[in-house]
Amino acid sequence: MQGIIDSTDQPETNNQDQSQLDDLRGDVDRIDDGILDLLSKRRDVARKIAAEKQRAERPFRDDSREEALLIERLASAGKYQLDADLVSRVWEQIMADSLRVQFDYIQDSVNGRKDAVIIAIQGVEGSNSHQAAIELTPNMNERELVPCTRFGDAITAVKDGRANVAVLPIENTTSGAIAEVYDLLLDSKVSIVGEVKLLVNHCVVGVPGASLADLKSIHGHPQAVAQCSNFLAGLDDVEVVYASDTALSARRIAEMANHSVAALANEDAARLYGLEVLASGINNRKSNYTRFVAVAAEPATVDPQVPSKTSLVLSVSNEAGSLAEVLNAFRAEDIPLVKLESRPTVDDAWQEMFYMDFEGNIGDQRVQRVLEIVRRHTMYLRVLGSYPSRDLRPHRRPSPQPERVLRVSEPSPQPAVKTASDSPYRLAGRRESQPETVVDVNGVLIGGPDLVMIAGPCAVESIDQVMKTAKAVKESGGKMLRGGCFKPRTSPYSFQGLGWEGLDMLAEAGRVYGLPIVTEVTAPEHVERMAEKADVLQIGTRNMQNFALLSEVGRTNRPVLLKRGMSASIDEFLQAAEYVLAGGNQRVILCERGIRTFETSSRNTLDVTAIPVLRRRTHLPVIVDPSHAAGDRDLVVPLAMAGVAIGAHGLIVEIHPDPATALSDGPQSLTLEDFDALMQTLSDRVH
Ligand code: PEP
Ligand code: MN
Repeated sequence: MQGIIDSTDQPETNNQDQSQLDDLRGDVDRIDDGILDLLSKRRDVARKIAAEKQRAERPFRDDSREEALLIERLASAGKYQLDADLVSRVWEQIMADSLRVQFDYIQDSVNGRKDAVIIAIQGVEGSNSHQAAIELTPNMNERELVPCTRFGDAITAVKDGRANVAVLPIENTTSGAIAEVYDLLLDSKVSIVGEVKLLVNHCVVGVPGASLADLKSIHGHPQAVAQCSNFLAGLDDVEVVYASDTALSARRIAEMANHSVAALANEDAARLYGLEVLASGINNRKSNYTRFVAVAAEPATVDPQVPSKTSLVLSVSNEAGSLAEVLNAFRAEDIPLVKLESRPTVDDAWQEMFYMDFEGNIGDQRVQRVLEIVRRHTMYLRVLGSYPSRDLRPHRRPSPQPERVLRVSEPSPQPAVKTASDSPYRLAGRRESQPETVVDVNGVLIGGPDLVMIAGPCAVESIDQVMKTAKAVKESGGKMLRGGCFKPRTSPYSFQGLGWEGLDMLAEAGRVYGLPIVTEVTAPEHVERMAEKADVLQIGTRNMQNFALLSEVGRTNRPVLLKRGMSASIDEFLQAAEYVLAGGNQRVILCERGIRTFETSSRNTLDVTAIPVLRRRTHLPVIVDPSHAAGDRDLVVPLAMAGVAIGAHGLIVEIHPDPATALSDGPQSLTLEDFDALMQTLSDRVH
C-alpha cells in the first residue's frame, strides 16, 4: 500500500487538528471574555473612585499617580514575559478610559444621568464625527444618531429638540479652524458641553479589486482633501470630487461599484461599507487630530474637581490696547489661555470676533473676576460654555520676569464691593469705583463727556422727508439719525410704518449724511435682518419686557437703545438691560422716556430722578427722550434742558420738516428750525 495515500487517515488528522484549533480558539475566547469582564470591573472601581474623590473633594486628576501606575505595570511586564511597548500602549488606553468614565460619572452626578442619548452629527454612520460622538459618551447604554447634511442642520436638530447634543468638528491640527462651525456657534444659542480630540487617519478606500493606479477620481470632504493635499498632489490625472462627508462618500462609491472611483474615508467607514483600504495614513501630518465639540441647548455644569475648559466669544472695544487688556486680565489671575481664534463679524467686516478657550470653570470665582474685567473692554461677550477637558495638565506657573511681561496697565483691583454673583444686576450693576461704560457707535461715543444728540422723525414717511431731516440733523450738529420703520402703534388703524422699505430710506439718508441710524425693532424674527442695516437697535417702551426680543438683540453685535417701559420700575428697567447683556451684547444705552402717572397734563411724566439714580446703579450710559415724555412740542425743550442738567449723556428728539402733516407724533415733533435753536442753546455741551 506504499505510495498510496490512506484516504481515511488524512481526514482523521484534519479532524484532530481542527478540534485542537477549536479548543485553543475557545481558550482565547474565554480569555478575551475574561479581559472584558476585568475591564468592566475596572470601570466599576473607577466609578467608585470618582464617587470617593467627589465626596472627599480630592483633586480629580493626579498625574503622579497615573505615571506611577504605568511605571508599576511596566515593571511587572517582564514577570509575565510581555514587552513594555505592548503594556504601555494597552495601559494608556485603559487609563484614558478610566478617566473618561470618571469624568462622565461626576458630570452625570452634577447634570443628571441619562441612559440614552440622541446625537446629531454632520455625516453618516462611520464618519469621524460618529467616532467622536462615541468617545464623548462612554457611559451611554444607547446612542441614537441623527445624521445631517450640514453642520447647521445638526445644530437645528438640537434647537428643535430632535437631538440632545450635536457633535461638530471645530479645528484640525493640519487644516486649522473650521470657520463655519465657529460662525454657527456665534449665531446660535447653543452651549458647548464637551470636547474630544480624535486622531484622524485618512485612507483612500475603494471597491474590492480597485487599485491606486487605476483611479480616475477620488471623492472627499473638503476638510479631508485639505488634510491630505500632499498625497493628492502626487496622484496624476486623478480628479478630486468634493463630497459633503467622508463616510457618505464611502457609501456612495460602494454603491457605484466602479474600480476607477475611490473615496477619502477612515478604516471604520471602509469596513462598514465593504470597501478596501488602498492607502492608509495619507494625511500631510501624521499626528492629524481633529477637535470636536458637543453642543447642547442648555449649558452644562462642570464639577469643580473635573479639569475643565471654558470657551468665550467676544469683540473688543475700539480703544487701543483693548485686546491686550483682555489678555492681561487672564494673566493677572494666572489662568492659561489655550486658544485664540478670530473671525470677521457678519454685520461689520472689519470688526473681529475673538474666540478664546481657557483652562477653568465658569463657576470659579477667579474666572468670574476675570470676566468682570474682560467685560469692560468688550462690546460683545458671550460664554459658550464650560466643559470637561481630558488633556489638560497642571501648568507651569510663569516665573516672574518683569521686563518681559506685557503690562498694558496695572491689573485692575478686585471688586471692592459685592461680587458679580451677589448683585441683582450682575452685568448692568455698577460697583464702587467701576468706571462708566462708553458705548461706541461707529465712532460716536455715548457715555463720555460729550452730550450726544440723536434726532429724526417719529416715523420714516418718504425718502424726501428723511433726507431733508437728516440734512438738518447733520447741519445742526446732531450725531445720529432716528426714524421708526416698524411702528408699534396703540391703534391698529394708525400708520404702522414703511417697514423694510423705510429702513432702506433711513439707511440711505444715514449714509449720505454720515450719521449712524437708530430704529426700533419690534419682533425677534426681524432682529437679524434689522441688524444688517441699523447701527443701533431700539427697543421701544412697549417691548421693554419682551424677553424673547431682548435675548435676540442681546445676541447681535449692534448697540441697543433700550427705552424704559412706561410702567416699569428702575429695577425692572435694569433687569431688562441685564437680558441684553447676558445675551452677549455689551453695548446697551438706557433711555428714560417718561412714565405713566396720575398726571394727565402731559403725555407721560419725565422721571428726571431716574437719571441720577441710574447713573449711580449702573455703568451703562443714560439718555433722555423728552419728546415722548412731553407729547407736546412746547414742553420738549424745557424737558430736554432738564435732562441735560440732571446728567443725561444724550438726548433723542423727534423732529419733522412739517410736523402738521406728520403721519405720527406730529404734535410733539420739533420743526427743523426748533431743533437748530435747541442745538444752539446746548452748544457748550455738544462738540
Ligand atoms: C419711538 O421712539 O419712536 C417710540 C415709539 O418711543 P416709545 O417706545 O418710547 O414710545
Ligand atoms: Mn414717536
